[in-house]
Amino acid sequence: MANDVWVVVEHESGQPKKISLELLGRAGQLALALGGKAVAFVPGRDVSAVARALGPYGADIVYTAQDPLLEPYTADAQTQVVGEALRKEQPTLVLIGSTAQGRDYAPRLAARLGAAIVTDCASLEVDNSSLVATRPMYTRKAIGTVMYASEGIRIAVVLPAVYPVPQADPKRTAEVRAMRIPLDAKQIRTKVHEVQAIKRETVPLTEADVIVSGGRGLRGPENFALLDALAKALGAAVGSSRPPVDSGWVPHDYEIGQTGKTVSPQVYLACGISGAPQHLAGMSGSKHIVAINKDPNAPIFQLADLGIVGDLFEILPKLTEAVKKAKGGNRD
Ligand SMILES: Cc1cc2nc3c(=O)[nH]c(=O)nc-3n(C[C@H](O)[C@H](O)[C@H](O)COP(=O)(O)OP(=O)(O)OC[C@H]3O[C@@H](n4cnc5c(N)ncnc54)[C@H](O)[C@@H]3O)c2cc1C
Repeated sequence: MANDVWVVVEHESGQPKKISLELLGRAGQLALALGGKAVAFVPGRDVSAVARALGPYGADIVYTAQDPLLEPYTADAQTQVVGEALRKEQPTLVLIGSTAQGRDYAPRLAARLGAAIVTDCASLEVDNSSLVATRPMYTRKAIGTVMYASEGIRIAVVLPAVYPVPQADPKRTAEVRAMRIPLDAKQIRTKVHEVQAIKRETVPLTEADVIVSGGRGLRGPENFALLDALAKALGAAVGSSRPPVDSGWVPHDYEIGQTGKTVSPQVYLACGISGAPQHLAGMSGSKHIVAINKDPNAPIFQLADLGIVGDLFEILPKLTEAVKKAKGGNRD
């Protein structure tokens, strides 16, 4: 068994996703502590551009596995290809992003390999040659510390934005090795008929550095325009709590929380959101939390670094104007 640390890379349009670069940065540090190499594994149809992009972010070796059956993504094909690669190379640790895909296939992969798995990792450390992970539990009311007991392949499904994207070093290159992994089409039991991409003008929520988020306090779909204007001025993404989604004011992909997305931006601005545990489950990992709420006793203020007690309908337009002014001009 090698002391290598692997990252299973997710990619889109020939580019690695931000989460995979975050994991690669951490893989480099862990590999150093464990005396192994940082290895990126890139499955897909044609992944040569993705593979080339990974050396500057810290990959020592990049394995590619190319097959038309790997795109569009299905859990069966992904489990087959990643499982075979791991069986062959036996790294000590595999990092997988806690994304829709990662959460879908990682437990299946662990069951196939008989590997230990920790999901929702918020940190991963080497402690006296043991691997220790922390993970939020009970809608983030507690943080669990978990030690891997097994000696075999260990899998960590890591939350987005807990590690920074490493600084790219354009001079650094990785050795790219093509792996031949024949896939059995009969074992792919699902067929993707259509992929409908959700078009958003702003960066995706899970990749945004700044998020402005609205709750029931916005009172109606038309008032999300206030958040859109502020987000545009800040270069932020717009999210929401669950009631605006349930009421059909915004699409489902806006939802943040236990049944929505988990985000960890640098700044999270909660507007007219009370701070229910199910909402906090998706955003309490944000670096700085700012809340606007007219109720001084709203639970969100217990978590917020900065709280504004007041009417969001008065505050948001003024805030947008102030941001535009500070940035030196109109961004309309
Ligand atoms: C199984 C389960 C899963 C769930 N999953 C999620 C989830 O993933 N995400 C999620 O968000 N919720 C989730 N919920 C719902 C959650 O329990 C709360 O009901 C929800 O988060 C409340 O949303 P809110 O804060 O927008 O609304 P409310 O709790 O109604 O709060 C609205 C806030 O707006 C303030 N306000 C009103 N008017 C103004 C104004 N003019 N100016 C300033 N402030 C104003 C009020 O003071 C209030 O604090 C889940 C619930 C269950 C049972």
